[in-house]
Amino acid sequence: MKASIWYNNNDIRLEEVPTPSPGQGEMLVKVISCGICGSDIVEWYRLPRAPLIQGHEVGVEVVETGPGVSKYKKGDRLFIAPKVPCLKCSYCLKGHYPQCNVIKDRLPGGFAEYILVPKDLVLNGTYLLPDNVSYDQATFIEPLACVVRAQRLAAIEEGQTLLILGSGISGLLHIKLARHKKCKVIATDINQRKLELAKSYGADYVADAASDVTEQLLHYNGRKADAVIVTTSAMSALKQAWETVDMGGVVVLFTVPEPGKDVVVPVNDFWRKEIRILTSYYCGPPDIEEALDLITNRDIMVDDLITHRLPLKDTDKGFKMLLDGSESLKIIIKPHES
Ligand SMILES: [Zn+2]
Ligand SMILES: [Zn+2]
Repeated sequence: MKASIWYNNNDIRLEEVPTPSPGQGEMLVKVISCGICGSDIVEWYRLPRAPLIQGHEVGVEVVETGPGVSKYKKGDRLFIAPKVPCLKCSYCLKGHYPQCNVIKDRLPGGFAEYILVPKDLVLNGTYLLPDNVSYDQATFIEPLACVVRAQRLAAIEEGQTLLILGSGISGLLHIKLARHKKCKVIATDINQRKLELAKSYGADYVADAASDVTEQLLHYNGRKADAVIVTTSAMSALKQAWETVDMGGVVVLFTVPEPGKDVVVPVNDFWRKEIRILTSYYCGPPDIEEALDLITNRDIMVDDLITHRLPLKDTDKGFKMLLDGSESLKIIIKPHES
């Protein structure tokens, strides 16, 4: 089968690799759609495992089940989580699924014609797609689940004012979810096109990230934000986050600067104001279930976020477009289309 092997962002090669065949408890699935994630282009995060087949936002069809698999049959339409937690360790029991320390096989990458699904994932990491959820829509389950998790950890609820720093794909998903929860949403970006999109997808007010965001927020909202969600790795966004969060509020680091960057936090000021800083990484089974429900029920529309569909041989073009960031939102690789 053909697969796109990622060596780094400037070196992605279409290679011929053996098509796996499923052993006990495994299954072979055909990749119909696989989204390129913002995290796929973050070299400091991905390079330690390179060369690798990337792609973890998948919509797949079962082609062959190994011995002992009774849960699924040929033709079933699925989303598969990139990895599954054990649900038994102390982290899992407290709901910190992404911290699960029981190492299991992860899903091989989706920028390939087929994926061999490991046993643990067949058992606990696969989700049947309802008839009204397309393979392309399925590529949003994982990114939306991460957004669901972040807003869950931050206890975002109706009536709050949210400031979302960065209106890329994750910022836009945060906007959509916050609007669904009936929050007041203010969004920023340095790109005018993304600000327009933020507005059209539900932001009540948008501000150029290069302008005085605090002043605009105060002018529009009358006070600072209950929650500030950082979805960009720009250092300037962190300073804005510290300045725009209201007393008793929360700053959510959904995206962080690269390792080694020194971040200055005004802890003395935050101490008096009882401001919390929390991080959110990846997602867990309840987040995936909620994301799938939101997409199935059309509570969150995702089709309007898809800007490009590319064949497998153009995976490198997709990465370049995402790195450039000006024209694209969600780019989906279609391994069986040319
Ligand atoms: Zn992702
Ligand atoms: Zn665990």
